[in-house]
Amino acid sequence: MFEVITLGSGSAGNSMLVRSASSAFLVDAGLSAKQLSIRLDACGVRLEDLSGVLLTHEHQDHCGGLKVLLNRCNFPVYCNPMTARAMSDTGFPHANWRFFQNGCAFSLNEFTILPFQVPHDAADPVGFRISAHGACLGVLTDLGYATRNVFDVLKGIQALLIETNYDEQLLQQDMRRPWSVKQRIQSRHGHLSNAAAARVIDELDAPDLRHVILGHLSRDCNSPDLAETCVRTTLETRGRAASLYCAGQDRPSPVFGLI
Ligand SMILES: [Zn+2]
Ligand SMILES: [Zn+2]
Repeated sequence: MFEVITLGSGSAGNSMLVRSASSAFLVDAGLSAKQLSIRLDACGVRLEDLSGVLLTHEHQDHCGGLKVLLNRCNFPVYCNPMTARAMSDTGFPHANWRFFQNGCAFSLNEFTILPFQVPHDAADPVGFRISAHGACLGVLTDLGYATRNVFDVLKGIQALLIETNYDEQLLQQDMRRPWSVKQRIQSRHGHLSNAAAARVIDELDAPDLRHVILGHLSRDCNSPDLAETCVRTTLETRGRAASLYCAGQDRPSPVFGLI
């Protein structure tokens, strides 16, 4: 058993549950501790059951609920040293850190985790390739563009969580965001647009890709319809049979089984 559930995904908070028959862990903990507890409970997972949380980077929408969650249950926090330092610098208390190095795989129970660097405006942001029982999940969120290394690392995956942060036209038309913020979002250290994510999926060397989960949608500059339509067109053009699901901010996704 290798299952994935997004507990919530969007600019207001991100967290994903990965589990097997005997263990479970989170990737990011950006929802409130209360919501994380409620949604884990709905998935039949107790806090004490978690083997830890993996952090992609230190932005609040990825670790905002962690401090309160650790007060309730002091499970290990897996991240690279620069991410931990960035969190400590902003007042995050001492945690049960387990440091990894980008590009070096490590084990978490029966899972093998390979963290890999992505370009984003954080201290040392990463994506993950998570493998178990012969199946692989790619976690690719918060990146300005996909480097050659990203394509190398994600070869042959069966499931992918990828950010479709914004629709390019809606971002241009948005009156609330100043020009400098728009520039940041679109930069090579910002976020993937729907069209950019579709291109990444298109170029991915993963013929057995079965599940594509779209996440981290901007509330103002995107919609599930726009993101799904953009990516579906690419999948259909390429004759790919992967299921497509757009993760929401306010409720957990269905369960995606890799094996
Ligand atoms: Zn970020
Ligand atoms: Zn984010």
